[in-house]
Amino acid sequence: MPRAGTVPSAEAAPAAHSVLTPPAFTPDTVASARRPWARLRGATKRGATIETYEVFAIKYASLANRKASENFIGGDPHESASDLDYFVWLARSKSRTFVIDTGFDAKVGARRGRRMLHPPERGLELLGIDARKVMDVIITHLHYDHVGNFGLFPSASFHLQDEEMAYATGRHMAQGFFNYAYEAGEVAAMVREVYKGRVRFHDGDAELAPGLSLHRIGGHTKGLQAVRVHTRVGWIVLASDAAHLYANMNETRPFPIVFDAGAMVEGYRRLRELADAPELIVPGHDPLVMRRYAPPRAGLRGIAVRLDRRPKP
Ligand SMILES: [Zn+2]
Repeated sequence: MPRAGTVPSAEAAPAAHSVLTPPAFTPDTVASARRPWARLRGATKRGATIETYEVFAIKYASLANRKASENFIGGDPHESASDLDYFVWLARSKSRTFVIDTGFDAKVGARRGRRMLHPPERGLELLGIDARKVMDVIITHLHYDHVGNFGLFPSASFHLQDEEMAYATGRHMAQGFFNYAYEAGEVAAMVREVYKGRVRFHDGDAELAPGLSLHRIGGHTKGLQAVRVHTRVGWIVLASDAAHLYANMNETRPFPIVFDAGAMVEGYRRLRELADAPELIVPGHDPLVMRRYAPPRAGLRGIAVRLDRRPKP
């Protein structure tokens, strides 16, 4: 085991990808006691090698007729802008399956004027996943479009940041500006899961399995987390709402639903640190995702795309 500061031994030497180029630690991330990078240098503590994941985005809903002011702080309210797509994500290796977010509940979606295309569990089923058997569900944050339907996963642990639960149940929720995208009933239901022991809390960076880790990126909400996954094209990052659209991060134009705009902009930099290349960051709501990546098979066109591939420019 190399000591901190020593060069890893030859047998721990990396494969082609940047398993071995750990992103720099910055003050906002060192607070965590767990530093997954230490173990990502070739092999994990238990000696298991890093697994390679297949990763999918499953589109379940969309929202049209957006104005620039709804997608960007300072955007022109008269200028039309990109639609939003709604996704859940799936990452699976030979030994592990992770569902990332569970989408909105159809009733809540209808009340909020969103158009459901396919229930998220149906998309998972088309990829061979039975929601009832999934053991690990990562909740990037507790907004209605990311946590509805979690009741469809009776076997799962829910991976959540401490900070997100504290935020969703704390003082800021007394303000409509911050509570708008939360459903009090869903948050309360997740609190009940805490009491059942089904929520696994994380504080900052956490490795869930060799090749898959969580990274808190505040900004949009106080405790949002992105997911970094090792794939055959390198480390990709599922940004979730750390970047709603490519343009939010690439043009540094923050999205207007925000807790801390400074942290949101800092988050764009953090996403680039975590991914092997900027194009391997997958934004949380951009319809371009469905165009830049290909469906896993012809029958899934418009429903799912495979993200462990290089996207079209
Ligand atoms: Zn969202």
